Amino acid sequence: MTGTTAMSARGAVLVLNAGSSSLKYQLLQPDTEEVQADGVAERIGESESSITHEQDGEESTEVLALPDHHAAIERAMRFFADHGTDLTTAGLLAVGHRVVHGGRTFYRPTLIDPEVISEISRISTLAPLHNPANLIGIDAARSLLPDVPSVAVFDTAFFHSLPDAAATYAIDRGVADLHAIRRYGFHGTSHEYVSQQVAEFLDRPVDLHQIVLHLGNGASASAIAGGSPIDTSMGMTPLEGLVMGTRSGDIDPGIVLHLNRVARLGVDQIDTLLNKQSGLKGLCGENDFRSITEKMAAGDAGARRAYDIYIHRLRRYIGAYMIELGRVDAITFTAGVGENAASVRADALAGLENYGIVIDAERNAVRAKHARRISADDSDVDVLVVPTNEELAIARQAADVVAAL
Ligand code: AMP
Repeated sequence: MTGTTAMSARGAVLVLNAGSSSLKYQLLQPDTEEVQADGVAERIGESESSITHEQDGEESTEVLALPDHHAAIERAMRFFADHGTDLTTAGLLAVGHRVVHGGRTFYRPTLIDPEVISEISRISTLAPLHNPANLIGIDAARSLLPDVPSVAVFDTAFFHSLPDAAATYAIDRGVADLHAIRRYGFHGTSHEYVSQQVAEFLDRPVDLHQIVLHLGNGASASAIAGGSPIDTSMGMTPLEGLVMGTRSGDIDPGIVLHLNRVARLGVDQIDTLLNKQSGLKGLCGENDFRSITEKMAAGDAGARRAYDIYIHRLRRYIGAYMIELGRVDAITFTAGVGENAASVRADALAGLENYGIVIDAERNAVRAKHARRISADDSDVDVLVVPTNEELAIARQAADVVAAL
């Protein structure tokens, strides 16, 4: 048993997604897409951290103190060892790291060396909550698995080629250039992966005009023409755009000034307000769509209002991207809300028959884990639900980088 599992880890990639107090990991085969194990460590740095590991159909959870990401990876490695997988000798192809912000420097998956680490660190001012956590994960993986190449896959990379008019804020050029202020876009790995899946599903890889709606706890929309993004809703940071679980999305920037001048909130308080206490949570106290749907069904007016605001913003972006694209062939829903909340899909595209967009209610109601069409046969625009898989995309990109060495 032990030997078999160890052998099957050969050629696998360990994907790490390190947050400020969490670490998600997955061991998978980029070619066969087989997931051999996955896990998550939470509340890292607190006295009661927890780690859950799933492998060979068994799930184990342990509550313990994990002082840092190094300790979390070490504990995960012991879970792997319990299942007969010694990560140090399993012949891993690579460790693939999700890195949130690549700034103006990184727009391809990149083999990590000390120079890359110092550049990721330098651009951390652009993502002060995320990049430092990603770097801690990188450091821990490099010290615990020194013989396995580490590859950074950047959440901003796919949007590197955004047209200048979409990427540029209308502020003083000198200030913007000095401080690297532009629209970078995020969730790029997901938008790229899903848009490629759409092209495959429709068997139409060239010149496909599509809108991808990544609706999870974080949410973003993108307009993609012929495989290249022409616009996206997140900007310099992941705060811009759609209403999200706890993030406001678009607001009048004057509100920030008002909160500072009149409400006397400091930058950190405003940061917390807009990133953690806004969006659906700020509107109705819930950031999980399941709870919002339940509350709406029970007649809760606050949940209904939050939902309406969420849908309003989403429709505004869909409309804008339809005009930007000129012609839309496909609109695709993905991520936790997009893949599961049929009412969001129906309401986001309701009443657009004149634009050739017709959802089939029965198809939309089907729950499934695979890519599917939910538009009616007479819909000009294909409306799809396509599960995202950022881990697989990261594993493939990391494996490609290593293969090219
Ligand atoms: P993600 O960030 O992609 O993992 O998505 C997480 C979000 O998906 C959760 O916060 C929920 O709001 C939402 N979600 C997950 N499952 C469902 C479901 N069955 N129905 C509605 N929303 C869901």
